[in-house]
Amino acid sequence: MTAHDRVLANDDLARFSNLIGGRSVEAADGRLFESVCPSDGRAFALAPRSGKVDVDAAVAAARGAFEGAWGRLTATERGRLLVRLGEAVAAHADELAALESRDTGKPLKQGRADMAATARYFEFYGTAADKLHGDTLPFLNGYTVAVVRDPHGVTGHIVPWNYPAQIFGRSVGASLACGNACVVKPAEDACLSLIRICELARDVGFPDGALNIVAGLGAEAGAALAEHPDIDFMSFTGSPQTGALIQAAAGRNSIGCTLELGGKSPQILFADADIEAAAPVVVNAITQNGGQTCSAGSRVLIEEKAADRFAAAIAERFAKVTAAHHEADREMGGMINPRQRQRVQGHIERAQQEGLRIVAQGAIDAAAPASGFYVRPTMFGPVDPRATLANEEVFGPVLAMIPFRDEAHAVALANGTPYGLVAGVWTGDARRSMRVARAMRCGQVFVNGYGAGGGVELPFGGVKKSGHGREKGFEALYEFCAAKTIVINHG
Ligand code: NAD
Repeated sequence: MTAHDRVLANDDLARFSNLIGGRSVEAADGRLFESVCPSDGRAFALAPRSGKVDVDAAVAAARGAFEGAWGRLTATERGRLLVRLGEAVAAHADELAALESRDTGKPLKQGRADMAATARYFEFYGTAADKLHGDTLPFLNGYTVAVVRDPHGVTGHIVPWNYPAQIFGRSVGASLACGNACVVKPAEDACLSLIRICELARDVGFPDGALNIVAGLGAEAGAALAEHPDIDFMSFTGSPQTGALIQAAAGRNSIGCTLELGGKSPQILFADADIEAAAPVVVNAITQNGGQTCSAGSRVLIEEKAADRFAAAIAERFAKVTAAHHEADREMGGMINPRQRQRVQGHIERAQQEGLRIVAQGAIDAAAPASGFYVRPTMFGPVDPRATLANEEVFGPVLAMIPFRDEAHAVALANGTPYGLVAGVWTGDARRSMRVARAMRCGQVFVNGYGAGGGVELPFGGVKKSGHGREKGFEALYEFCAAKTIVINHG
């Protein structure tokens, strides 16, 4: 029996509810599951373990809002509500950050950064809502053609546990701005901040049913939402395995979906790079959020002639990273759950069995509770590009250092995995930076910098096994609406 299978009625634990049609409700059958803090392994809250009946109610409430009060608002009115929600998130940032950090184990400073970004998503999409305009087209004489942008209707949002609030903010923010009504299924490992933010949305005046949340397990509430025949569009962020299920369900219902999946993102360091500037960014890009970041910079490609010098500079910083209780606010916290910790440890062990050498390891804080889910951040090098570690996503603080000969070799290695999410290019040569950036097969490239997870304004998404569709920035708005062409004959 896992923690999620237990049905508890322990009043010592904080209770969280679904929000459906503006009302806080339990699962119809009263089932619950525990929220466990990765920092100490202890359950501290209970959330509804929703099923198909609850998802049906949430979708019906969203449909009612779309066809009713929410659908009647102007774009400006929708935008104002989103801006107000952003202000409410900012006003409750301390409470929300503490909740998010406890639920995910991330350091408090990361929890606070996540809430600042979440508030900014609502501000960004709130102020964008009435700037999403259509077009007119030249056509036959005597005709006027207008292309207008219609919302899809009811959108489903399945959110993972690594950056719950940020991923919720970017996805729901863009969808609501377009005029859709939303049903959210948060991850079972971290759902609490999203429930609170949905309550804030109700409090700032969103019409009932515009934004609904049903907590629960992936195979239950998640599958019910993905399969639901009255969902018009699905936004999914999570693993490639689940993404394939979501895509198949969307296909059966003939609806569109965005898939934001994993990555094996490279950071390419040419010998002329400013290693002093690069080293802290490279280390942060793989240890931020304990490496549980889809855009983690998990491969560092280093030009051979600078390999020893650069690897030493990175290793020196890497060894200073400490995993600690989220309240200790160190560089990283624990892994989200024991299964994830075991998975990361398994990758480290397998790399060693394949003959790879550890060149640096961080520490686990001596004060960190033994019951927490900590792993030591680990850097391997030099790694054969054919090794498992160079190709599979770890989703943990494990860095592979891979040498390359020249620019062509670097590009081939960078593009040589099944993934294509983000890349970093570090060089003092401006022409080369542009050449390499253009050659990357991925959705986002940073030159002389790297933003694992950041950038409200920056369109983001993958190619190949990293998924399809774009979230973040203005670009996301085009995903959450559909062009409708109106042809008027007035000749
Ligand atoms: P996951 O796919 O197991 O879970 C993601 C969400 O899907 C959760 O809400 C879960 O409950 C739900 N889910 C699980 N099974 C389902 C099913 N059968 N039907 C419907 N929903 C289901 O992934 P995870 O373990 O939560 O997250 C880790 C993975 O997500 C990594 O591979 C990571 O790279 C990826 N990720 C990608 C991004 C991105 O933006 N590209 C962001 C975060 C995480």
